[in-house]
Amino acid sequence: MARIANIQRMLTSGECTCRELTLRYLAAIDSANADLAAYISVTRETALATADAVDAKLRRGERLAPLEGVPFSLKDNISTRGLETSCASNMLAGYKPAYDAFTWELLKARNAVLLGKANMDEFAMGSTCETSRIGGAKNPHNIGYVSGGSSGGSASSVAANLAAYSLGSDTGGSVRQPAAFCGLLGLKPTYGAVSRRGLIAFASSLDQIGILAEDSDDARAVFQVIAKPDALDMTSRTLPNLAPELNRTIGVASEFFTGVSPDVEQAVRNAIDTFERLGYEIVPVEFPLLRYVLPTYYILACAEASSNLGRYDGIRYGFASDMYDDIDDGISRVRSEGFGAEVKRRIMLGTYVLSSGYFDAYYKKAQDLRHAIKRQIEDNVFGRCGMLLTPTVPTNALKIGANLSPVEIYGTDICTVTANIAELPAVSVPCGNDSAGLPIGVQLIGSAFSDAALLDAAADFERATDREFVANLDMGVRV
Ligand code: GLN
Repeated sequence: MARIANIQRMLTSGECTCRELTLRYLAAIDSANADLAAYISVTRETALATADAVDAKLRRGERLAPLEGVPFSLKDNISTRGLETSCASNMLAGYKPAYDAFTWELLKARNAVLLGKANMDEFAMGSTCETSRIGGAKNPHNIGYVSGGSSGGSASSVAANLAAYSLGSDTGGSVRQPAAFCGLLGLKPTYGAVSRRGLIAFASSLDQIGILAEDSDDARAVFQVIAKPDALDMTSRTLPNLAPELNRTIGVASEFFTGVSPDVEQAVRNAIDTFERLGYEIVPVEFPLLRYVLPTYYILACAEASSNLGRYDGIRYGFASDMYDDIDDGISRVRSEGFGAEVKRRIMLGTYVLSSGYFDAYYKKAQDLRHAIKRQIEDNVFGRCGMLLTPTVPTNALKIGANLSPVEIYGTDICTVTANIAELPAVSVPCGNDSAGLPIGVQLIGSAFSDAALLDAAADFERATDREFVANLDMGVRV
């Protein structure tokens, strides 16, 4: 049974109080977090105060709202008023936002129990979680492996059941890739379906808050609560229809299979067979522009990041340097000392592609490619199919300290970035294990606002495979 429904059943039947359950989660975090580094901070008081409010409601005989009383984690780039939100960066260590992210506002209003802030790559830039100021979150399936990134702490906390579910953010795959490595369902909603207000910006035209959960039932329960229009986010859009008809035609493009590991190829081909057995129609499609998606993504993401991260000057908030000669020297020291190497690399790259003389050659070309990619996927895929199926990640789960070059690491995003570039919803569903026993994910990308249909297809897959790949590790809190 899905965790969220099970927890609410336990609470409603009186099998345990919300305080007892929360204390069990906090104890599990206390004992496992030293090894896993899933949490960057634990919000014990907030969790227990919410749990007490839930218990009082239950004692009054009131019914629980969706997600009420269910313990969860939030990625450390989602603003929580009065609670440290550091983006796992020294630049924001100790920063306590003055306002709540809209998603946290929605969850808080339902007495969702916030256990803590999940570890991540610094400012969500990375694929292994290892650029975090506290070091990367580990993969609970085998702590010699990364949990993925950038929402690595979110994935680690849910896979180890140190949280029932987690909100992460996905700019180029940061929800789906860690979900794949940790054997979870990861949903990146349609751009605009979930408000970004209070999500600390990395690349605003690509950023989207997403969900990491044990299975599609849990992800759906969370999505229904957080996919709400927000008048204060100008890119927020109302979902036209939360339950669109499922178009059971799945496109498969051979381009996504070049260079994938044999384990991933096998597991994803098996997933295609499963969908075929379920009565889905598999249609070969072409996506030749795939070879441009990584340069397009990295140029646009870095350009936007260089602009968004310009605000960290050590004057208004964040890290400050005590010794400087003048204002330029002060800002330069703050940025040199406060940011890690990957963040600095991207700010420099982004500044370069936006600079006069290079703007047309890089940024403008990438914008043009973005339009071409969107058009090609609409014409070639969604003109004929309801979904596009690809591996989530072309490689097996990565070992800690594998020492890949930045370019090799960026290459692992090849299958995920298209959904961000084209503003489409996408889901990663566990579909197998590699030769080292680490999970593998299959990705379904849908047309805009088909988020619920993707979860329907994921649910069909989970049922058809008897939940064989739904990770239920013998760790954390049993629910
Ligand atoms: N791995 C990608 C990057 O490093 C995606 C990050 C993300 O989605 N936040 O940019």
